[in-house]
This record gives sequence, C-alpha cells and structure tokens, in this order.
Amino acid sequence: MENIKISKICGLCEGCKNVIETTKAQLNKGKNVTLFKEVVHNKNANKFLNDLGAKIKTELTELNSNELVIIRAHGEPPKTFEYLNENRIKFKDCTCPNVKKIHNSTQEFMLKGYKIIIVGKQKHPEVVGTQGWCLGGAIVIETENDLEQLNEIKNDKLHLVCQTTFNSSKFDELEQKITEIAKQNNCELSVNKTICNAQKLINLYAVELAKESDIMIVVGGKNSSNSVELFKNVSYYCPSIFIEDIYTYAQELEANSIKINKTTRIGITAGASTLKEELIELKKLIESDLNKIN
Ligand code: SF4
Repeated sequence: MENIKISKICGLCEGCKNVIETTKAQLNKGKNVTLFKEVVHNKNANKFLNDLGAKIKTELTELNSNELVIIRAHGEPPKTFEYLNENRIKFKDCTCPNVKKIHNSTQEFMLKGYKIIIVGKQKHPEVVGTQGWCLGGAIVIETENDLEQLNEIKNDKLHLVCQTTFNSSKFDELEQKITEIAKQNNCELSVNKTICNAQKLINLYAVELAKESDIMIVVGGKNSSNSVELFKNVSYYCPSIFIEDIYTYAQELEANSIKINKTTRIGITAGASTLKEELIELKKLIESDLNKIN
C-alpha cells in the first residue's frame, strides 16, 4: 500500500550495523561469542544475536578466556579493556568510531590542561564510557540542576562535548547557559557538539514523513535515547505510537484511541538500533491486517 511509508533514512546506523555484522561473522567462524552487556539498545536486535548463539553477560567477572567478547558501540571505560587484557580474554572492540573520536579528543584536550564537560544522560553507557576515558574525571550535565557543579571552576580552561544521541535543542540550551557561566567565571570554553550525524538524518527524515502522515509509528527500544527522541519529535506533527515489539502495534493504536483504515497515511520510522527487516515486516503486517477489513 502506497499510503504506508517507511522513512527513507531510519533503523540501524553504521555503529550498530558493525556490532551485529561482527558478531555474526565471529559466530560463523565457530567462535564462542559473548556480548558484553546489551550491545545495542534494542531488545529484538539483542535477541536476534542471542538466537544465533551469542551469549549476553553483564559483569566483567562473568567473562572468561574461552570466549570472544564483543564490546558494544557505546564503548566502555578503560578499566574494562584492562580487565580483559589482564585476564587474557580475547575481544572485538566495536566501539563506534564517532564515540572513539570523542574519547580521543577529550584526552587531547585534557593533556592541554582543559577540564571536560559532557552534556548527556548521567547513567547512559556512552557517557559512563567517555567519563572513564577522561582520566581526571569529567563533569556531566544532564539538566540545568547539574550546572551548579560549574560554580566552583574559575579562571580555567573547559572543553564541552555531547552524548552522540542527546537532544540537539536541549544541548543548545545547556550550551548557552554553560557559556554564560564560563564567561562569569573567567573561563575559556571550547565547544564540540558531538551529536551523531546518523541521528540527525534519521530525525530529519522522520519529521518530514510525519508532516505528510496521519499517524506515525516509531519502533525502537524504550531505553534507547535516540528512539525516545525520535518519538518526541514526530509526535509534535501527528498522533504517534512508540513500540518495541512490532506485533503490538494494533494494541498500542487501540490504547491511544487511534483508528486506521486503508487510506490512512501511516509513516514508519525507527531508532538507530532497530533492524530494517523489522520495519518491512511491520509494513506487511499492517497491510495484511487492513486487507482483512473489507
Ligand atoms: S548513533 Fe551514531 S554514534 Fe551512535 S552508534 Fe550509531 S553511528 Fe555511532
């Protein structure tokens, strides 16, 4: 049905694709593969790899030398790699190159005497990983309430980076406030808005699709920052639902009192950790359900 459209750019980004392809390739070689923590923030993608034979472990102490460990796209702090090396545990580091760039640049700035500020979610694994690479520690700012941490810093050099999947306009608001505080405290401030391009494009295309749709369906993990963001953005333009499991779309529509028929313009998009196959399957499912209604 032409009125059901999947956004031109959505679903698995390069970073998540790399984790999935690397895991599949190692399993195909007959390796005993273990994913260290949820490799991407999407239950179905993790289940897909689990079904292929990859185990998922969440604690370093659970890992041992007879397995090949996959490090997720969000990255890990140095202590994880130290543990793996010390215990002779083989691993494939699938930290996304965009995240690695942040680790490298923050270290460079620290060597030049800058204090690092990360705008991002306090407990997000990418932020925790980046914090770990800032060996002298980094200040994490998630909301305005966190800004008071900057009051004590005077006559210093500050370097500001951002969680790759953080909300762009929220970053801009916080950056403005941080700039004011830096000025008042006579601090030099260098800013690198490190929001991922994949994320920006997924959002841009989703919003364009939402503008010409009657309803939008966002597929993604509820713990995935970029999917949550996507949902917020498209909801502004038309009634929208956010589902983790494509087979629950009808229930979710009902729960939100949204009715669809064969002419409803339905837009489908997904966060950067969702498999494209799931979206194609969802489109088929909706078409088949609508065809059952005469
Ligand atoms: S969203 Fe961007 S930064 Fe995050 S894993 Fe994907 S490509 Fe990398």
